[in-house]
Amino acid sequence: MNCIFCDIINKKAEAEIIYENEDIISFLDIRPMNFGHALVIPKTHFENFLSVPKPLLNKLIESTQYISEVINSSLNTDGFNIVVNNGSAAGQSVFHFHFHIIPRFKSDSFNFKPIFKKYENDGFREYADKIRIAVNK
Ligand code: AMP
Ligand code: ZN
Repeated sequence: MNCIFCDIINKKAEAEIIYENEDIISFLDIRPMNFGHALVIPKTHFENFLSVPKPLLNKLIESTQYISEVINSSLNTDGFNIVVNNGSAAGQSVFHFHFHIIPRFKSDSFNFKPIFKKYENDGFREYADKIRIAVNK
């Protein structure tokens, strides 16, 4: 399998690694939205959010919180975004699960504000029903 993140884990590709433990590695994104933009990934290859086993996902979330704190304090950020893209329709380009930690500053010239939709008629409840019916099955 050809995976650039597995290559980074196996030290076959270079990366600016900022944190590493038994299960997890974190390194700087090569195309940052802001300087210090980091990725947090499991050392075992899983494609996306849904395929990561829960105990490992918990560890990833804990590490992501820790690394966010460190990035915030070391880079003096005003905030940060945690982003996960799942599937190419959502913008995923590397199919090895990762959290993005994106440092944010009041002076940022970009934002994540989408064009919002408006539910018509019973759409609000109908969408909730479609999802509710599938919960706990
Ligand atoms: P996504 O689009 O959510 O799958 O994010 C993949 C991210 O990986 C992108 O932001 C890329 O800039 C980043 N990326 C791809 N190759 C490398 C690499 N060799 N080193 C660091 N970051 C990378
Ligand atoms: Zn991989």
